[in-house]
Amino acid sequence: MTAHNGRTRGAGIVALIAGAALLAACSNSNTTTTSGASSAPSSDPPSAPASSAAAPNAPVSSTPTGTADKIIAVGAENEYANVISQIGGQYVEVTSIMSNPNTDPHTFEASANVAKTVQAASLVVQNGIGYDDFMNKIEKASPNADRKVIDVQKLRGLPDNTPNPHLWYDPKTMPAVAKELVGDLSALQPAHASYFHDQQTKFLASMKTWTDAMETFKKQYGGTGVAVTEPVADYLIDASGLDNKTPWSMQAAIMNDTDPAPQDIATQDSLFKNKSVKVFLYNQQVTDDITTKFLGQAHSAGVPVVGVYETMPTDGYTYQSWMLAELTAIKKAIANGTSTEKL
Ligand SMILES: [Zn+2]
Repeated sequence: MTAHNGRTRGAGIVALIAGAALLAACSNSNTTTTSGASSAPSSDPPSAPASSAAAPNAPVSSTPTGTADKIIAVGAENEYANVISQIGGQYVEVTSIMSNPNTDPHTFEASANVAKTVQAASLVVQNGIGYDDFMNKIEKASPNADRKVIDVQKLRGLPDNTPNPHLWYDPKTMPAVAKELVGDLSALQPAHASYFHDQQTKFLASMKTWTDAMETFKKQYGGTGVAVTEPVADYLIDASGLDNKTPWSMQAAIMNDTDPAPQDIATQDSLFKNKSVKVFLYNQQVTDDITTKFLGQAHSAGVPVVGVYETMPTDGYTYQSWMLAELTAIKKAIANGTSTEKL
């Protein structure tokens, strides 16, 4: 694990600037390309709208070039790629750069392959706040006035020193991204603007299932104490009305790979020992000796554990079903004392 602010990732970025020899540090299995229509795994039903849209559109798109070209798009993290797929449907081919649940995105270094993928894209969604700074370097190295880049930090109007970069856990983020996507996709393929709008409507309806569940949860369990390792799910914790008792300074230390203060560790220890928290949200992708020690303490104290992730777990989730699954796991932990260590 390493810093969110991009300092530690400098090595990979320097290699990028240097040009040809790019580091392939992450065993190159991170990049996943999916066709929009087939990629949104479970809750998005693209087949019906896809076929109904294809019929009227077929003569239109075949007039100029004879093919219905797909928009090549990239999501720096697979949760953004998933939302691109849901809005773009059959008209996008989406690649996610970071999607491996067994690796820590904070230590990600862009390979030559990744650079090529981003360079070829006409639509990009990236998080910002230093979380995926390599994207900026690649985009700068291959300027393209026609490439549309949605930087979620900028979209949300957040400053560079925003302490918590995990913006996708905030229920305000993806609706804003979806809206921006409709605009950009419609600019790239004006003939399909109404299709993109329809996809957005479906996406927002599906988002509501999660946000409604969060409102209900808040009324029932608001104020319940929880502990965490790093702030990955903190926006969800706040939006759900939970009381995060882990000191911020310790969360930041673990996130930035520095040593937590002894008094912070003592505070965290006592949260488990005194059972003053009902759930321990454990980042499965950013672990070290300290987080593993906390996990052991939670187990011994009988505090249920819920696994949380930097990137979307890949087995059949959409962005919104993933978020709902996290909320459901937290609820089961509080209500029944049940652990969901892995989604
Ligand atoms: Zn993180």
